[in-house]
Amino acid sequence: MTAPILEVRDLSKHYYLKGNNTLKAVDGVSFDVGAGETLSLVGESGCGKSTIGRAILRLVPVTSGSILIDGKRIDTLSGARLRTLRRRFQVIFQDPFSSLNPRMRVRDIVAEPIRNFKLARSSAELNAQVSKLIDTVRLPSDAGGRFPHEFSGGQRQRIGIAKALAAQPDLIVCDEAVSALDVSVKAQIVNLLQDLQVDLGLSLLFISHDLAVVEHMTHRVAVMYLGKIVEIGTREQIFTKPHHPYTKALRSAVPLPDPMVKRERITLKGDVPSPINIPSGCRFHTRCPFALDRCRKEEPAPREISARHLSACHLD
Ligand code: SF4
Repeated sequence: MTAPILEVRDLSKHYYLKGNNTLKAVDGVSFDVGAGETLSLVGESGCGKSTIGRAILRLVPVTSGSILIDGKRIDTLSGARLRTLRRRFQVIFQDPFSSLNPRMRVRDIVAEPIRNFKLARSSAELNAQVSKLIDTVRLPSDAGGRFPHEFSGGQRQRIGIAKALAAQPDLIVCDEAVSALDVSVKAQIVNLLQDLQVDLGLSLLFISHDLAVVEHMTHRVAVMYLGKIVEIGTREQIFTKPHHPYTKALRSAVPLPDPMVKRERITLKGDVPSPINIPSGCRFHTRCPFALDRCRKEEPAPREISARHLSACHLD
């Protein structure tokens, strides 16, 4: 375990709605990401994983809890002190096109963070850094003079990665960063992220609904359901010895590479309940195939199943 670069402690993000209703998008979530580590936040759409990413990037204010980078709280910072720390955590979005200015050439898009954070001492140094980044993300050498619309979806994601790297961050939040890509392009971008992580010692918070992708590139996994982490552990713990029934159900839906090998599919009944009306006790009890009476009344606290493997379920 490396020293955590990111610590999220008891984080909640609630939205107060008309009629005295509260939407609990994130409801008391804690986790760490170590230096050079990938932690994947997984779960169905609406489970709160992207809200956590936005809270870390300070795109939404938190309701309670704290977020620390290298031991310093960032959820309470503003102005110049936030700006200084902001360089250290960057983001790659699902749709790079919407985050790339269509009127800017690629070289100017990539140069923007270098200029903003004053990371080059001269124009020659700036140009050298931009060329190196274009090369690092494996774009064609003439890419700098072209516009985003001239590139495919996968190449645009490479431009987004180059832009994120230009700030020389320690942590990158990848928010469904490969979800919109075709299978082969997805694999290329995942390989690129893995290579960059090793070469640059980056930490990644990989937010995804796609367990098949996560399985190939993560060190640890946090499984979210209705605003809470229900299970967290290493890749091996989550993929070979999952404990929580929700993790088991998600895992059972991942296709196996060998079509001749069959795996029992756990089908969940019903839809995910509304985060405005979270079920009592274990919030998963309305869909859990193993729910007991106790589950309807008592909320299970996360408990250690094995070293660094926590699950919030009453079952042994
Ligand atoms: Fe299912 Fe009960 Fe475990 Fe919740 S606590 S996951 S309802 S068995």
